[in-house]
Amino acid sequence: MKAMRITQPANVNPWARAAFETAHHAYVRGDLAEARAALLRALDSQPDFVDAHYWLARLTDDPQAKRRHLTNALVHLPNHLDALRDLMVLDGRLTPEQAAQTHHHAEAETRQAAEPVRMTTTVLICPVCGGDLTVDPNDGHVECRFCGYRAEKAPQPATDGSDLLAAALLERKATNVRWKIGRRLLHCNRCGAERTIPATALSTRCPFCNSNHVVQQDALGSFQQPDGLLPFRVSQEQAEARIRKRLRRLDERLAGLIDTNAMRRLELEGVYLPFWLFDALADVTQTITPKAGRYGKGPASLRLPQTSTFRDGCFNLPVPAMSKPHATLLRGLNDFDMGQMVAYQPKLLARHPAALYDIDFDQASLEARSEATRRMREKHGQTNRDDVEVRVSTLVVQMSFRLVLMPVWLGVITEADGDLRQALVSGQTGKVVLGKAQKPKRR
Ligand SMILES: [Zn+2]
Ligand SMILES: [Zn+2]
Repeated sequence: MKAMRITQPANVNPWARAAFETAHHAYVRGDLAEARAALLRALDSQPDFVDAHYWLARLTDDPQAKRRHLTNALVHLPNHLDALRDLMVLDGRLTPEQAAQTHHHAEAETRQAAEPVRMTTTVLICPVCGGDLTVDPNDGHVECRFCGYRAEKAPQPATDGSDLLAAALLERKATNVRWKIGRRLLHCNRCGAERTIPATALSTRCPFCNSNHVVQQDALGSFQQPDGLLPFRVSQEQAEARIRKRLRRLDERLAGLIDTNAMRRLELEGVYLPFWLFDALADVTQTITPKAGRYGKGPASLRLPQTSTFRDGCFNLPVPAMSKPHATLLRGLNDFDMGQMVAYQPKLLARHPAALYDIDFDQASLEARSEATRRMREKHGQTNRDDVEVRVSTLVVQMSFRLVLMPVWLGVITEADGDLRQALVSGQTGKVVLGKAQKPKRR
């Protein structure tokens, strides 16, 4: 029998506490009706009493009341793991047995797949003539160049498919295995050919019949599908022009020192790259302290620090979900407009291929958490008064995330002296990020 405890005693008023204790005694005696009545009295006295909500949910059989009280507990204390676990069971996302397995603190076990993993794919072919599909770069419609077929609907705006980080972490604990995939096995159901593809490809063409395949899931269920996609708005020619312009600026700056980074060749490929997009809610505590000496002769009460606590959020923090290209380059592409996000569908990859993530959401969440903390400090730590000092402490209380595909032109520049340089161009805004020039690797 789980003990009824008050998790945050400082926040509970004496009447609510007395009622909760009455409920606890009734619960120990086995008088659940009396326990429920006392918990309701506790809530009358203090509607945001998290433990009272949580225990009412546990002691009632009515699924609607259960859900209401669990949701209430989570609204007031978003990182209440017990309430979240029970809500996931109620939603059918975890079985009670799985939920019971999520109390441990052990890391998920990582297993390496010994052989290429079988997978299912969607083949992107024209429903009329069976030809290869593409995407109209101007309006985003999926179409066929051979017979003129054109999908009726333009891609739909993305709905919020984000998942609570805490829920996803519990789910992972319940399975407790993390698969590392080397390659996946593509069985082409158009021509019957089989070959392996790297684990970081979300879409690929069969080299024998040229049909375009989008990976749906593999036999191990080792990855999740994207939730949204930002369409390409910048053409290859525009991306190339942007890179040339950037290089000219670089050239001018270096004029007289070196004149060898003129471009000899540029290879460009448009690819959708995966990013995790995080929302974070934080409790921010701001302390404003008058600077020492300022009120040296005044009453001491004037020098007391003033503290206020409030909740604030950061939304749409992108964290690269791929280890290549390097994160410092990818972070440079940070001016995406998320308002243009459309719901992901495999056929949107008819024109440009997409990569699959190799950095998992839990790893990425660490970066998102520190970025959210940094932004909160920056936002609330400013003052235009010079007689006070502002200090901010931030506690991230809830995070949610989704997987999105961002349009990127990946370029490799061969410079006149033979050096190679990576270039990334945002396929949405045209922003250019250049890597450092590097000597080509000797073969
Ligand atoms: Zn067609
Ligand atoms: Zn094939």
